[in-house]
Amino acid sequence: MLAIGVDVGGTSIKSALIEIGDKTVAESYKILKFNTLPTQAQEGRDTIVKNIERSIQTFDWKSCDMIAVASAGTIDWNSGDVIFATNSLPGFTGLKLSKVLSERFGKRVIAVNDAVGALIGEGFLGAGKKADSAMMFTLGTGLGVSFLTNKTLDSTSVVDTKLGHFKLYEGGRECACGDRGCAERYVSATALKKYGNENLYQLFNSKDVSQKIVLKNFYKDFTRVCLKAIEEYSPERIIVGGGVIEMAEYWWQSFLKEYKSCATTPIVCASLGNKAASLGCVYAMANGKFENQ
Ligand SMILES: [Zn+2]
Repeated sequence: MLAIGVDVGGTSIKSALIEIGDKTVAESYKILKFNTLPTQAQEGRDTIVKNIERSIQTFDWKSCDMIAVASAGTIDWNSGDVIFATNSLPGFTGLKLSKVLSERFGKRVIAVNDAVGALIGEGFLGAGKKADSAMMFTLGTGLGVSFLTNKTLDSTSVVDTKLGHFKLYEGGRECACGDRGCAERYVSATALKKYGNENLYQLFNSKDVSQKIVLKNFYKDFTRVCLKAIEEYSPERIIVGGGVIEMAEYWWQSFLKEYKSCATTPIVCASLGNKAASLGCVYAMANGKFENQ
């Protein structure tokens, strides 16, 4: 079986041509080709859709059995419509994403949220494939925390915990949500850049005492969010992804030391990198999920 998985973000559209042997076996998903195109989001909805189509057309899509899309924005589980998208994808709110692409290519297409796609990818094909439940932290612009409660993949399987806005510090740093002291103001790439160093490589390798304190606090704060997640959801395993994890070699061991002094739930780095969402939406479709779309 051949499938195309597309990951639509505010800056780039990543697409993968994926060969599937046994659809239930993680090891039989192979990425044959991978492409990245600019989203050109600021040019609006029609341009974005055109670029998604172009990214699919970079492959021999006619010979593919399925097309699955993971996109930024809130996407309805049953219809594949974009319920809400921020300004990162202007005009996307209200777009019937799966239907538009299905009509364009004459094939069934499913659309899911990109964080959901990445969670399914890591949960079934990556770092969480051996666990019955997995919680994924995505450290990027903000802090996304989503939970795969079980592996049936119905609409109750994926929970957006919103722990990124769990209050770490009463009256703390201001958050875009209007509240103060939210976790993502302390545990995200944005926070590390703002309070540490715009260049994260320099931050993780700095000998400067004040920079070391920033990191120490980051490990402590991140551990506290993990403890909150464990207390509330009891995941079998925690997976950490997002841009900051690409530099894991410089900070992961120091963080683990702090984490392991407080928690026993296994915690690991995401393993699929920027291919998790494309793989995840294809896995779901290949296994007959999102069948209403
Ligand atoms: Zn907040």
